[in-house]
Amino acid sequence: MEVLILPFLIMKNNCAIFPGSFDPITKGHVNIVKRALKIFDNIIIAIGANQTKEYMFSIQDRIKMINIVFKDNPRVIIKSYNGLTVQFCEKNNTRIIIRGIRNHFDVEYEKNIALANNTMNKNIETIYFDSSKEYQFLSSSIVKDVIRHKGSLENFLPNNIVNYINSI
Ligand code: ADP
Repeated sequence: MEVLILPFLIMKNNCAIFPGSFDPITKGHVNIVKRALKIFDNIIIAIGANQTKEYMFSIQDRIKMINIVFKDNPRVIIKSYNGLTVQFCEKNNTRIIIRGIRNHFDVEYEKNIALANNTMNKNIETIYFDSSKEYQFLSSSIVKDVIRHKGSLENFLPNNIVNYINSI
């Protein structure tokens, strides 16, 4: 009996967090979440509400947009957080941080953050997903520029997010 219960308990904890600004969520982010769901049972999308950062979209809008994309997937949990990502991991009992890598700038940037996080909590590991080829160029910053200049968003954002942005 115990032998049967143990794998179940391990599976139950197979949860990772995907922290970020998601200002707004792009097809690049969605691609990372979908691929991470092949490995983890649950993904917590953790939206940073960093007071020193300037966002285009409010925390409510960013949550709403992610919710629109994943509303039919109970394995995706959406939360917002202030403070350090390691503290969020500790509160949510998760040890895995997922990040996406598009280019060598991302590698350098992410490596230092991952080392700092692991220094603060030795149990926390960061796992990187290489960006899919078609989204390697894509960032929320590019999207924000396109929004400011009223350009076409269809290639960058899921359709229902384009509709949401056009409605606010
Ligand atoms: P942050 O401000 O924390 O960098 P972002 O929302 O910009 O938040 O990014 C969150 C994560 O998603 C980061 O790991 C980033 O590298 C990754 N990411 C963003 N866009 C893409 C993309 N097009 N392909 C793969 N990963 C991406």
